[in-house]
Amino acid sequence: MKVKPFRIPRVIVIPGLLVTVRQLPAAHPALDGADATWEYDDEKAVINIRRAASVRRKRYLVYHELGHVLWDLLHDVRDNHKQVVDKP
Ligand SMILES: [Zn+2]
Repeated sequence: MKVKPFRIPRVIVIPGLLVTVRQLPAAHPALDGADATWEYDDEKAVINIRRAASVRRKRYLVYHELGHVLWDLLHDVRDNHKQVVDKP
């Protein structure tokens, strides 16, 4: 697949969830020494990525952390909103 030009988004809107993307200095405590982290609650999520990483690396990090966010969302829907879950 050809990779299209990609800008690191500040927000990603998923139905029912707003994901904020923050580019932080490496020493920021939210990164906890990693290149990227994620935070999730049932109304919003935050993806933190290391500002100094290359755009290519940041792109990977955003998608990787978004995967974690989506799993959290899926489990939240399954566990806390059972009435909307028919069958998996
Ligand atoms: Zn991971």
